[in-house]
Amino acid sequence: MSETSISEVGTEPVSAEAPKRPRFLLREMRSSCATQRIWKWSLPASAGRLPDGRTYNTCPSAGICRDLCYARAGTFRFSNVLRLHQSNLQYVLDEPEAWERQMTAELTHRRYRSQGSRTHVRIHDSGDYFSAEYLDAWLRIIRSAPEVVFYSYTKEVALFNERVREDPPGNFFWRFSYGGTQDELIAPGDLHVDVFPDEESLAEAGYTSQAPSDLRGAYGPETLGIPANNLPAQRKRQGAQTFRALQRAANEQRSARRAQRRGPAPRRPKAD
Ligand code: SF4
Repeated sequence: MSETSISEVGTEPVSAEAPKRPRFLLREMRSSCATQRIWKWSLPASAGRLPDGRTYNTCPSAGICRDLCYARAGTFRFSNVLRLHQSNLQYVLDEPEAWERQMTAELTHRRYRSQGSRTHVRIHDSGDYFSAEYLDAWLRIIRSAPEVVFYSYTKEVALFNERVREDPPGNFFWRFSYGGTQDELIAPGDLHVDVFPDEESLAEAGYTSQAPSDLRGAYGPETLGIPANNLPAQRKRQGAQTFRALQRAANEQRSARRAQRRGPAPRRPKAD
């Protein structure tokens, strides 16, 4: 995975005016599949431009999912929502230490002390672990709050294999998500999720649907499936395929194009 820091990608200077930081960084998840209180942390999905002119890509290993992304459509595109997600990103980029301190302190607040069940935080309902430094910051935050359960979907397979797999925090559940450029690194037995055209195709493939509860992302079986969102343009583009199948086809096409550009392999001279 590329460890390109987003702040290195931009070309424009950072605004001198200090932005106002929110009192709380985590928001409550409002979703029909959030069956209990779940808090979330969001970044803007994929590539874009911050209000100060810097460009970013929060999903460096996104593949075919980029064109089918639920978080690049619908309410995620509302200006107030996008602004909030971009200001989250700006905070991480401009003041990573202050952001980490605030997140760590926030998790000790009484609103995260749940009565009865454990408190859950979904890291990224949009965006991904865009750099090693950012992932490491999250690992420190997660370790600082052992009574909270954190979970994530990610396409950063190499980064997780390198930095998380060997010694993960006990209160962190992650799951690889198909449709990215690192799909081929997802090994048999890895917890994963694939996006299916509908519930029927998901069940036919022997997958468990995530639809009844978002917490299946944390506690669900190895093979979890998400039925495609109700976004007509994305559904049309996806057709009858899963993200995994579409990514495999895209990879094969790319390899074929490369082979064509290289031309036929040079013939060895025949031995006399
Ligand atoms: S990695 Fe997730 S958020 Fe990013 S483009 Fe793909 S589906 Fe969207």
